[in-house]
Amino acid sequence: MSAVLAVIAHPDDESFGLGAVIDWFTEQGVPVGVLCFTHGEASTLHAAPGDLATIRATELRAAAGILGVSPVRLLDYADGRLDQTAVAELAGQVIRLIDEMNPSHLLVFDEGGITGHPDHQAATAAALAAARSTRRALLAWVVPETVADRLNAEFGTAFLGRPAAQLGERLVVSRVRQLRAIAAHASQSHTNPVLHRRIALLGDREHLRLLYRPGGGCPAEAGVGSRTTRPDHALGSGVWPRSRLTPHPWRDLPTARRGPFAPGPAVPAAGA
Ligand SMILES: [Zn+2]
Repeated sequence: MSAVLAVIAHPDDESFGLGAVIDWFTEQGVPVGVLCFTHGEASTLHAAPGDLATIRATELRAAAGILGVSPVRLLDYADGRLDQTAVAELAGQVIRLIDEMNPSHLLVFDEGGITGHPDHQAATAAALAAARSTRRALLAWVVPETVADRLNAEFGTAFLGRPAAQLGERLVVSRVRQLRAIAAHASQSHTNPVLHRRIALLGDREHLRLLYRPGGGCPAEAGVGSRTTRPDHALGSGVWPRSRLTPHPWRDLPTARRGPFAPGPAVPAAGA
């Protein structure tokens, strides 16, 4: 694993959603970059005076600094209408940044967009197309359906979770930097009980699922939106093509936040 490129729809997705996962990677010494398709100008939350697109761009830079993310590529597609832009065009933007930073992995929200937001789904679809085209692995942040169901019952939201068999690899995370990054999005985080309830329900755990691997023939290749990915394609199932990965980054993840994985050829291959 050389570097990770997170592909998101809105400023704050990198913190509210991916913050603890990104922090987990940077703590392991893995560089993380972010591509954000919109300025988030359509948000109904506007807790700071001024132009929301400008405010949110500034907030994104501050949050990225806290999370140790670089580069940050903020594009200007229309917030709330990302799914009206051709996937190929959005994927082209992702590929441009892949060419610059040469990540081994892309990181996205789960196929359903976690909250069900069409922009999130569009960002994931674009990343999947880019991953296929450039032969990069695609990792998705997923939430347990137990957490999603709880949030939906309490708040009337439309979270899309996964059953236990589809959660992939479990990470033990710290929330410290994520919470600081969330606070940097002051226009969005002042009144956001759903966000804080989700984090409380997840505790120190997050989950990453492999949505696509080069040459892997995962069911996800059939297209974003398919929820039929078999459990045996989960990261921890042993089907990861070890010969393609040096080192295997996922070994022992559930048991230690700072486990044996560190980037570089000195780490033994999986199974060693
Ligand atoms: Zn979002």
